[in-house]
Amino acid sequence: MEPNKQSDWVARSLRSVWHPCTQMQHHETVPLIPVSHGRGAWLYDLEGKRYLDAISSWWVNLFGHANPRINAALKEQLDLLEHAMLAGFTHEPVIRLSEQLAALTGDVLGHCFYASDGASAVEIALKMSFHSWRNRGQAEKQEFVCLKGSYHGETIGALAVTDVALFKDAYGPLLRASQTVMSPDARQAVDGETAQDVARRAAADVERLFTERGDKIAAIIIEPLVQCATGMAMHDPLYLTLVRELCDRHQVHLILDEIAVGCGRTGTFFACEQAGIWPDFLCLSKGISGGYLPLSLVMTRDDIYQAFYSADVTRGFLHSHSYTGNPLACRAALATLQIFQEDHVLEHNRVRAARLTQALAPLADHERVRNFRQRGMIWAFDAIDAPADFSRRFFATALEHELLMRPIGPTVYMMPPYILSDEEIDGLAANTLAVFNQVLAG
Ligand SMILES: *Cc1c(COP(=O)(O)O)cnc(C)c1O
Repeated sequence: MEPNKQSDWVARSLRSVWHPCTQMQHHETVPLIPVSHGRGAWLYDLEGKRYLDAISSWWVNLFGHANPRINAALKEQLDLLEHAMLAGFTHEPVIRLSEQLAALTGDVLGHCFYASDGASAVEIALKMSFHSWRNRGQAEKQEFVCLKGSYHGETIGALAVTDVALFKDAYGPLLRASQTVMSPDARQAVDGETAQDVARRAAADVERLFTERGDKIAAIIIEPLVQCATGMAMHDPLYLTLVRELCDRHQVHLILDEIAVGCGRTGTFFACEQAGIWPDFLCLSKGISGGYLPLSLVMTRDDIYQAFYSADVTRGFLHSHSYTGNPLACRAALATLQIFQEDHVLEHNRVRAARLTQALAPLADHERVRNFRQRGMIWAFDAIDAPADFSRRFFATALEHELLMRPIGPTVYMMPPYILSDEEIDGLAANTLAVFNQVLAG
């Protein structure tokens, strides 16, 4: 892109590019930013203005833009092998990545199946659960259970286990029905309840449903610890421990969608580690490639894998994508895992998190803020009496303060990359407070 032509590029984009999750008409008032380049936590537009990427570009970027180590790995991979089909062929990046991820689960989830985006990983987990039951002679297990406020992607199958009205209602007639149980969202605590009490109540709702029709249910799908897209609804790890027990007792698969919360986002590499459990299927995407390339995968147990192992083609898992296991994407993921290890990222994030939480104290105590919450590298709070267009106004005002932030309804959240300096942390907190006050002042 040439410099000084920002308005030109905006006009051309609005004519020819249909932007995601966007009412295009809103761009008559909401700014569209043409990005020229990125460095670290910052994105730069064509006029040289910069924006701190406080939401990791939709939760994917872990170690900053144009990260030198991921760049170097990709440049090397580019001259070796850009892509080869993964049926009948294999390659070093996909083998190493599968081995390293399996090792992170103590080899409990020892088999990795690949795709390109998060929604596809969810589709795979749903199909694999159903098909494995059928291969085991339990073809009647066909139903899926999701949580209130769940988000698992926007393809038809994933949308069927998503409970965000905006995304779901419009396409309702196209979707297969699923069962919805209570969310363990700790904000529902009443009468002196703790987060654990809410978790127990939510688990009791799962038990009720499993007792009633567990023989028809293939799997329950959960975003562990934080239901992100519904507005960063956080719950106690106890919920996951209890649901794991119920799944074992009633022979229902547990699918954990760690697409947003995996890769260290909640403080541990996998969110479910904090509950001391492993699922039957674990979905990863978003951060796994460091935010570089589309990559997703489903990890599963050996007994599931064995349910498909046969001489019969129709007992095999019938699913593929053209770019399954793309070597460049896998290589970016390997570089990402290497940074976790070399830089002791989880440890350093605890220090970063403590500093940002402290810097956000004026917002936590703000009279127009409720439910200030944090887990790992996720912060969120809800605006009291937020105007209807709060989210859009916040986004536009944040840009004026060098911030990229997109509230979800009245919920302001931060999901920054794991590289913020002390100065960037303090600036993020101070600017967020300024933006919040400015938006509420109208
Ligand atoms: C983003 C997300 C998805 C969908 O991933 P896409 O790559 O956008 O298809 C699924 N589940 C969760 C929890 C997500 O946050």
